Amino acid sequence: MSRSILVIEDQEDNRRILRDLLTSHGYKIIEATDGLAGVESAGVHRPDLILMDIQLPGIDGYEATRRIKADPDLNNIPIIAVTSYALSGDDQKAFTAGCDDYVAKPFSPRKLLAKIEHYLAQRETGGNG
Ligand code: MN
Repeated sequence: MSRSILVIEDQEDNRRILRDLLTSHGYKIIEATDGLAGVESAGVHRPDLILMDIQLPGIDGYEATRRIKADPDLNNIPIIAVTSYALSGDDQKAFTAGCDDYVAKPFSPRKLLAKIEHYLAQRETGGNG
């Protein structure tokens, strides 16, 4: 069964890049275009992993991450922040908010896929479902 990844990203171009990359590697993707919709979608779909843009309409990616990680039913879902500002401390803010990892835009597709595979493998060996 293919694993599902929730992509929370407001820019259509970025969503298309991620959609093409992830579906071509066999992942099922779910998309949300703002922070609140992302939190709601996480609860409805229980994805295996979340890619979280930081700059989003409404609540930002930090707040969306805090809300997801505050939910005991969802807090074991790995969240990878996708940030434009890794050099200005946004990586630390992402970790503080509860993100498990981050990649800086523009990301390397190979490195992003490696991180995704890493966290999905951890879930398989460590989880009780
Ligand atoms: Mn954005």
